[in-house]
Amino acid sequence: YPKIALIGRPNVGKSTLFNRLIRSNRAITHDRPGVTRDRMEGTVKRDGRTWTVIDTGGIHLDESYKAAEGPSELRGFESEILRQTQEAMAECVALCLVVDGRDGLLPFDRRLAEYVRRSGLPVLLAVNKVDGGELEDQLTPEFHELGLPMLALSGEHGYNMRAFEEELRDLLPPEDQWQQLEQEAGLKLAMLGRPNAGKSSLVNAITGMNRMIVSDMAGTTRDSVDVTYVLDDKRYTFVDTAGVRRRAKITDTVERYSVNSSIKSSTKAHVTILVLDGQEGLTQQDKRLIDLLDERKTPFMVLVNKTDLVKPNELAAVKKVYKEALSYCAHVPILYVSAHTRANLKRIIPLAEQIWSECHVRVPTGQLNRVLEAIVTKQQPPVVNRVRPKFFYMTQAETNPPTFVFFVNDADRMKDAYIRYMERSLRKTFKIEHAPVRVRFRSSH
Ligand code: GDP
Repeated sequence: YPKIALIGRPNVGKSTLFNRLIRSNRAITHDRPGVTRDRMEGTVKRDGRTWTVIDTGGIHLDESYKAAEGPSELRGFESEILRQTQEAMAECVALCLVVDGRDGLLPFDRRLAEYVRRSGLPVLLAVNKVDGGELEDQLTPEFHELGLPMLALSGEHGYNMRAFEEELRDLLPPEDQWQQLEQEAGLKLAMLGRPNAGKSSLVNAITGMNRMIVSDMAGTTRDSVDVTYVLDDKRYTFVDTAGVRRRAKITDTVERYSVNSSIKSSTKAHVTILVLDGQEGLTQQDKRLIDLLDERKTPFMVLVNKTDLVKPNELAAVKKVYKEALSYCAHVPILYVSAHTRANLKRIIPLAEQIWSECHVRVPTGQLNRVLEAIVTKQQPPVVNRVRPKFFYMTQAETNPPTFVFFVNDADRMKDAYIRYMERSLRKTFKIEHAPVRVRFRSSH
């Protein structure tokens, strides 16, 4: 979804506005090393558009700050805020600069406004903590000098919130234009897997001489970079790749590995690539990661790397291990590769393309229901408590992942084996080989 970031000094009320915008929607928190308050992302779904709002937050207001007098104490935070603003500018389609109407226009607001203007992105200036009436006439005029489209509002009391939502929505690019932008930006791929599995070797081997490091946050708080390259006129980006630059550094840092932060980088990608070390074999952590990716319906593939170190006569046995470990998510493709010999590397990108396009399969309802009839006729659902489950109709509720909803007489009566049979049949009929699929049942009378 297109993103709009709320930026501004601490305490201007960004997070209150953020919470108003996302209402009950769940926020995704990004823990960022070196930054105490989390940056938040939430989804805004309104008036036919869906977009992501980012609360750049990121500022740790410790006790000494709270005790301090006045905004001049903020100096220490300024460079951090500017860094975050810059980061937001790189990924957002528009920006909302939030200022505090009661504090008035501060020099740092001017500085941020200048930054924001230079980004060339559409901007809204939100003058917060103003509840309309006389106060609005009193407090807002001085902000006109920033020369930005402006709205007075109060996140806390809800004043002008509806107008706020509308003005932000109007900053979004038109839907079709956005789709095109997305396509040009190309597929984003996340490389997951424990240290030394060969993630960076693989990124280097796949992208070769054509790679460009597009964002480089290394040296500050993040030891990860995005690597973009172009293949057959299409862009591909390996997002949030930890350790790609590691060898260039003088001191080797220990790459931290946690299943949770791995999962987070996979949420930034279209398709996730889980790299396993074919020489070391599967670990508990690898299995947990596979479990989680499957549970979250993440589109992913598995690369078993370092196959050059596996003796040819042992390869069949090794393959059997991986196949069995992934048997409960048999749609997930496994490639046996080697960053050193380049075996099978050419298959990775086409496979990612296939997975992503399968995620967007959409089947018209009429066709779905003809297929439903055929599936049920071919193999009747088993009788449970002397009653045979009855199917009324089905729809596709969503794409990415394709989500099929069956309306049945009693949703609790569905047997697992039969659910699996239905999923298999749908996959086969609609050619969804490697993408995740969701199947749901609703009782209906
Ligand atoms: P990362 O931590 O997952 O990024 O792993 P690296 O890419 O840094 O690789 C860890 C080690 O494994 C390095 O010494 C690589 O040279 C080695 N390595 C990576 N891929 C292969 C491979 O396909 N075959 C062999 N033999 N070694 C590999």
